[in-house]
Amino acid sequence: MYEGVRSPLIYTPRTIGEFATVIRRHPQAILWAGGTYLMSQPDYYPGEAKDGIIDLSHMEELKRITRNDRYVEIGAMVTARQLLSTGRLLLPPILQQTLQSLGTQVVRRQITIGGALCISDTRLSLSTTLAVLAASAEVKLYNDSKVTTHWIPVAKLYDKEGKLNLGSKSALLTRIRIGLEFGDFQRFVLFGDPIRKSSECGIVALHAKREQNSLSKVQFCVTFPRKAFHISKDIESKLSGSALPIHPEKVNSLSYELVAELTKMHNTISDLQLERARRIFESFLHDLNSQSLS
Ligand SMILES: Cc1cc2nc3c(=O)[nH]c(=O)nc-3n(C[C@H](O)[C@H](O)[C@H](O)COP(=O)(O)OP(=O)(O)OC[C@H]3O[C@@H](n4cnc5c(N)ncnc54)[C@H](O)[C@@H]3O)c2cc1C
Repeated sequence: MYEGVRSPLIYTPRTIGEFATVIRRHPQAILWAGGTYLMSQPDYYPGEAKDGIIDLSHMEELKRITRNDRYVEIGAMVTARQLLSTGRLLLPPILQQTLQSLGTQVVRRQITIGGALCISDTRLSLSTTLAVLAASAEVKLYNDSKVTTHWIPVAKLYDKEGKLNLGSKSALLTRIRIGLEFGDFQRFVLFGDPIRKSSECGIVALHAKREQNSLSKVQFCVTFPRKAFHISKDIESKLSGSALPIHPEKVNSLSYELVAELTKMHNTISDLQLERARRIFESFLHDLNSQSLS
């Protein structure tokens, strides 16, 4: 029964330098972080890992959380649980809420920041929230003997369907950076089950700053797993600079603009997903209004 089944070769680099040597020799190797996504794939074992597996769990430099006055940096191998406990006093509420929404406590011990951001074909909660927080990711691209390092905004790591967009080279995400000047209005809503029923799910996040009676630095992202990763520059710029409260007619028209944009750019989103996302977006704006009046 097990004839032909072989264990994949597993490499365990301890530093980024060692990783570079391994990836140069095995450019098709699979990077293994928490393994929660990889193990959910139907053919994960013995895994057609023709070029083996690179286990990132021994790379201590990917497990650090550091901060200065302006930003916090979080290593790719920091787990959701670790980040929730260590960063409780540091992280913006929207990020804490997002981390708490990831699966169960057991799963959160496994899920890593790098793994959550680097799933190749689907976008979920963390990418959505980090996009609205204007976080950036440090990515190393390995091409033959050359390594290049790039800081890329999380919002630009993906294409419009939400697929990871780092080209064909081998890439290692090493850390993310989040600015510590947060806006005071942050909202995150996940509807549906992103794992079991991803086709009915959606994730909506908004981050903005209220200054006296107006709104600034609006960042908005809506994600439908395996369908869309949508950042609307148009809606962001129409909201930034708006006086508070926003007129109910404008709230209504913006929410239908969102639907029109989504329908035009992504034709696989269901009517129910669209309507739920629209109502959540509207509820964020009503919430903003009621807070500005109290
Ligand atoms: C029951 C359950 C519920 C969940 N619910 C949610 C949810 O509600 N919202 C949500 O957002 N997520 C959720 N998740 C998590 C999500 O589905 C993924 O399983 C998880 O984000 C993957 O993280 P990981 O560290 O296990 O990555 P892995 O499975 O190890 O890797 C994922 C991918 O990223 C690549 N990779 C990993 N690290 C790096 C790196 N540093 N650089 C480059 N590539 C890398 C791997 O090669 C692989 O392709 C849930 C998971 C489970 C099991």
